[in-house]
Amino acid sequence: MAGTDRKIHLIITRQKDAKSAPYKEEFLVPYRPNMNIISALIEIQRKPVNANGKKTTPVIWESVCLEEVCGACSMVINGKPRQACSTLIDQLTEPIQLAPLSTFPVDRDLKVDRQRMFDALKKVKAWIPIDGTYDLGAGPRMPEKTRQWAYELSKCMTCGCCLEACPNVNAKSPFIGPAPLSQVRLFNAHPTGAMHKEERLEALMGEGGITSCGNSQNCVEVCPKGIPLTTSIAQVNRQVTLQSFKSFFG
Ligand code: SF4
Repeated sequence: MAGTDRKIHLIITRQKDAKSAPYKEEFLVPYRPNMNIISALIEIQRKPVNANGKKTTPVIWESVCLEEVCGACSMVINGKPRQACSTLIDQLTEPIQLAPLSTFPVDRDLKVDRQRMFDALKKVKAWIPIDGTYDLGAGPRMPEKTRQWAYELSKCMTCGCCLEACPNVNAKSPFIGPAPLSQVRLFNAHPTGAMHKEERLEALMGEGGITSCGNSQNCVEVCPKGIPLTTSIAQVNRQVTLQSFKSFFG
């Protein structure tokens, strides 16, 4: 409660650098109403002393927007991949366990390297080709019905939670994961983005593409933006099948 001596008990999985072994360190942080995980981590940063009263190094994490838009502060909180900015202390059971996402290489403590996601977006050309030397003007209009579901897919913040939850995405697997597949559906639906539709689908026919999806459906459960990932994957699967027939017959 406010004005009391209540402390929040955190157990954090830490790692000195990319090559070090992980270890756990416990912290007791003064409670304030409406705290989120980021504010608890800021308290540790201000006073880096662990639960045994021993001075330690500040815990490292990544965050930018603090309003669940940038996707940078993803971590595993009490066993579930989610955003540290939108996770409130009052909604968690203690001790609160914080760990880095396990699907990505750890840089340090709770900060991971999400590069594999950005590489996957490049692989599937997840953009609208609008390059030009002059103002191309307004693009073609989309039907309202399409725009509505496309807007939902465009909320993806490349946070990596869906990749963390997917059993088929790991360091040994080249599977690009649910988020890039959903972005293929988004950009293929756009009147200008459709110019790269065939290239996107061809990219998904190779190693790490759509056939690596095991249909576990974990991804859709954890997406903080509520993106209908399994619907996207099913739609893209259909598009890939049609494209493979098209390529085969000429
Ligand atoms: Fe995160 Fe959802 Fe995008 Fe996956 S689809 S990266 S969980 S916002």
